[in-house]
Amino acid sequence: VIKSLKAGTNVDAWCTKCRLVLAHTIEAVAAGEIKRVQCNTCGGAHRYRATEPGTTEKSPRASAKEKSSSPKSRAGNFQRLTQNRDATQATPYSMKRRFAAGELIHHLNFGLGVVVEEKDAQKIEVLFEAGPKVLVHGREA
Ligand SMILES: [Zn+2]
Repeated sequence: VIKSLKAGTNVDAWCTKCRLVLAHTIEAVAAGEIKRVQCNTCGGAHRYRATEPGTTEKSPRASAKEKSSSPKSRAGNFQRLTQNRDATQATPYSMKRRFAAGELIHHLNFGLGVVVEEKDAQKIEVLFEAGPKVLVHGREA
């Protein structure tokens, strides 16, 4: 399965402002390559970069394979984690708030999600219906 690279879809990319690999929205694609992205966390637009500068970039083929490995089980996990949960109790996502594992959140772009892991003081992994995303939390303005 070839991952479609279209403007308006989400991709994980290095944010030059947040200095983290985060979910971005693709702004421009040329010759099958992502050229510009907009950070879903800080809203900043910049050139696409898959990984932190200075680290070895994974080949697109390898990462596409990883991402498509188990879409069904991920969706199943999402269903399992959100069943019996009251979506109206979800906390609106903001990078300034702090979140803990198990919390239900609502993200403007991704919708309902469950915090599966507090990765460190600045990052949480959240499972959305579309799959897991790493988001920033605990950021001061
Ligand atoms: Zn950012």
